[in-house]
Amino acid sequence: DIAELRRLDVAHHLPAQADWAEIEKLGGSRIITHAEGCTIVDGDGHRILDGMAGLWCVNVGYGREELVEAAAAQMRELPFYNTFFKTATPPTVTLAAKIAQLTGGRLPHIFFNASGSEANDTVFRMVRHYWKLKGEPKRTVFISRWNAYHGSTVAGVSLGGMKAMHAQGDLPIPGVEHVRQPYFYGEGQGMTEEEFCDACVAAIEDKILEVGPENCAAFIGEPVQGAGGVIIPPKGYWPKVEAVVRKYGLLLVADEVICGFGRTGKMWGHETMGFTPDLMPMAKGLSSGYLPISATAVASHVVDVLKTGGDFVHGFTYSGHPVAAAVALKNIEIIEREGLVERTGSITGPHLAKALATLDDHPLVGETRSIGLLGAVEIVADKETRARFGGAEGTAGPMARDACIANGLMVRGIRDSLVMCPPLVIATEQIDEMVAIIRKSLDEVMPKLRA
Ligand code: PLP
Repeated sequence: DIAELRRLDVAHHLPAQADWAEIEKLGGSRIITHAEGCTIVDGDGHRILDGMAGLWCVNVGYGREELVEAAAAQMRELPFYNTFFKTATPPTVTLAAKIAQLTGGRLPHIFFNASGSEANDTVFRMVRHYWKLKGEPKRTVFISRWNAYHGSTVAGVSLGGMKAMHAQGDLPIPGVEHVRQPYFYGEGQGMTEEEFCDACVAAIEDKILEVGPENCAAFIGEPVQGAGGVIIPPKGYWPKVEAVVRKYGLLLVADEVICGFGRTGKMWGHETMGFTPDLMPMAKGLSSGYLPISATAVASHVVDVLKTGGDFVHGFTYSGHPVAAAVALKNIEIIEREGLVERTGSITGPHLAKALATLDDHPLVGETRSIGLLGAVEIVADKETRARFGGAEGTAGPMARDACIANGLMVRGIRDSLVMCPPLVIATEQIDEMVAIIRKSLDEVMPKLRA
């Protein structure tokens, strides 16, 4: 029973990225028992519209029998085999070829891992190994951005730009430098979008020159920062970043863990943003979260160099897991058959943008923004000055999030914003429902925030 599960949760379970003392005070985690389509259901029978697609991942929605069948069939045939012994399995190889095709042939070599963090660890080691083999062993430094999220492993946290994560574990490890994020609403006051864009790009060039181009290995970024607050860069940002990165010969890494598989209205975030990476970690939408699997797609000019180095002594037990690969293949088949990428680009994405814009007149809303089915609502104390509640960032988002959840919508509160990332199968009526719940929740928290 649910009360007993909550008791066991407090006694024995340490949930991810959580304040365990707070969960203990709440009497345990909310137990999610089942889900269908875009709706999750908890142990008390509350139905909650899932505005977060689980954790930015359940792109095809819940309850897909085809994925269940694909997993069961593969488990019967071959539940596991590794890729360490000059071995591979049919779904692993077929999935690699499928992903290569989805990159338009630009990144045709696929290394499998189980999580987005691991996909970035693979990037980290591949890139440094590449430069050694190229005869430029000093090129070790990664340039990343503040508030980037690249995972929770030591390399993932280091590449990421979350100061709270750095503080726990004395990270980043040496060889990672951070520059400002392209957060126009938060940091661009008094500038045009173009001026702000150029300042952000100049910060990257300045950092490269400070470190010394001969020491720089790669620039890494999410096409649109997700966990950093759905930071949609100003127009022209990525092509300009790409030009600077190419000028100094760094490799360019697009972390597509959230943006990949249609989230921004095209298959890849880098297509939406107009640049071409050399390496590309992906996860989440690859299997719609039904099983853990991730991949690092790599360009031929990088792999050609890596092939001169003998064994690449890197890999995981679950690299290319056949059951996860079979599920990913079926998931991609669904995405293609149902036209979910095109639907996001031309129907649901524009609908979300329009629906969010109806919140612009709300006294607490400083800005709404979205791209595809990735959106944010900025909460401010003063629309004119963009002042935050309590002076510092971070009060309003979590408070509004809790109100949304109580009102039947799962969203995330990041600093002073609400962010959302619904399944790509969401109906336009459900988008309207999401926005109505956000409005109602903002109305409810307004007196508390202003008290
Ligand atoms: N990269 C990005 C852009 C992410 O958003 C995430 C997770 O949210 C990760 C990497 C890490 O993925 P995982 O949690 O599967 O390790």
